[in-house]
Amino acid sequence: MTTGTPVTVAYGDGIGPEIMRATLHVLDAAGARLDLERVEVGLDVYRDGHSSGIAPDTWESLRRTGVFLKGPITTPQGGGYKSLNVTIRKSLGMYANVRPCVAYPPFVATRHPSMDVVIVRENEEDLYAGIEHRQTDDVVQCLKLYSRQGCERIVRYAFEYARRNNRRKVSCFTKDNIMKLTDGLFHRVFEEVAAEYDLQHEHYIIDIGTALLADSPEMFDVIVLPNLYGDILSDVAAQLTGSVGLGGSANIGDHCAMFEAIHGSAPGIAGQDIANPSGLLLASVMMLVHIGQREVAELVHNAWLRTLEDGVHTADIYMADTSAQCVGTAEFGRAVVARLGQRPERLRAVRYIPDVADAAEDAAAPITVTAHPPADKRMVGVDVFVHDRDASADDLAERLQKAQGDDLQLLMISNRGVKVWPEGLPETMCVDHWRCRFQHPQSDREVDHAQVIDLLTRLADAGIDFVKTEQLYTFDGEPAYSLGQGQ
Ligand code: NAD
Repeated sequence: MTTGTPVTVAYGDGIGPEIMRATLHVLDAAGARLDLERVEVGLDVYRDGHSSGIAPDTWESLRRTGVFLKGPITTPQGGGYKSLNVTIRKSLGMYANVRPCVAYPPFVATRHPSMDVVIVRENEEDLYAGIEHRQTDDVVQCLKLYSRQGCERIVRYAFEYARRNNRRKVSCFTKDNIMKLTDGLFHRVFEEVAAEYDLQHEHYIIDIGTALLADSPEMFDVIVLPNLYGDILSDVAAQLTGSVGLGGSANIGDHCAMFEAIHGSAPGIAGQDIANPSGLLLASVMMLVHIGQREVAELVHNAWLRTLEDGVHTADIYMADTSAQCVGTAEFGRAVVARLGQRPERLRAVRYIPDVADAAEDAAAPITVTAHPPADKRMVGVDVFVHDRDASADDLAERLQKAQGDDLQLLMISNRGVKVWPEGLPETMCVDHWRCRFQHPQSDREVDHAQVIDLLTRLADAGIDFVKTEQLYTFDGEPAYSLGQGQ
């Protein structure tokens, strides 16, 4: 390999080594200028006692090069092992996961021949913060955290991506009809950022959005989503193109970026020279664009498209009536090398060399988020969550009212989000986890921490087992908490 940009490389587990060898063979032949630093991650490292699957000295290489080409790894089941991908993404601040999902008809069988969608998934926040607690015998909780900065960074990244790659539209999917604060923030930031760009934009509730994507993916271009929805939707989208084996993905941060195939280590076919190296090869094309070697990226991607078009296929996409040749992993790599310099004739050729002289530099510019002055925040009450196995809502209300003071009084009790006091319905199923809302009798009157602590002391003295509290605030006069369903 010609020397050039330092890149950390991990061959990975299962089919990882064979698809990585084929990929590096193509990059070398195409003239990629890379200084490769090989590191070990995955199964052997987990077995050496590193529960994250990554050895301490590997971090040093990743932080120095800032670019990681990674083969798939096997995550051992059970035993307290953590996901290597989640650890690397979050530790190194890779906030954007970018996954192009393209159909290649008629060379790869698909029901959606005109599909060409890019999924941009937020990578760090949401339920993936992994903040979970068991609070009562019956109830467990996972915190869904969104930040304004996190939302803005990913949404801005999606619009910048669309602009740089001549995409026409950015769609956003959330569930803000239900989660008005969290998903509502993501949607609101999307509308704010969209107003700065001369691109089409639209929002769908995630359920109908997913249904439309599965039915008519040609409606969409770039889709930006919060973490969990993006995780699910990106696999749906990849599968719709015809094969998960063809997809590459990029994880992008301000300091580090990681490129990998979207599939796993496929242990069932490892070591047989039959795996398709295309997912990793296309990930390496994204890496070449990222490090500014756009001419090499274009050379490799077009040679790969030509190989596909010439019917040279690995077993996973081979079709007796349309393919010309069924080849192994290494042979597929050699077939791509033989076509370097050629362009596809039926599939659309890619173009990465920018028309505008400064576009490559522009592409690497870090995303900056808008600074907002702090809002006028006032505490107007507290939700006290109580663990009680035996109480009815009315009994519990009676005990709580005996312990309350003049300043913070019981306003409402809900169970699993549904109001059960006052005037609950007998049909509502209740578990042992009660949200008890206390506010000043004049509900918008400000209260302070000392009043909340007084209330909690009285509740403790009355033998109430409270498991957590959430203070109720207004921000600039707007209530910043959800009402109980039915309140
Ligand atoms: P998988 O993606 O490895 O395999 C799913 C199916 O697709 C299998 O039938 C496999 O043979 C086939 N397949 C996958 N890649 C292929 C390729 N390049 N060419 C031809 N066929 C291919 O998913 P899995 O079986 O659920 O997971 C296996 C292991 O991989 C697990 O330990 C899982 O945790 C891990 N995994 C790792 C990553 C990653 O490193 N990013 C991603 C997903 C899964």
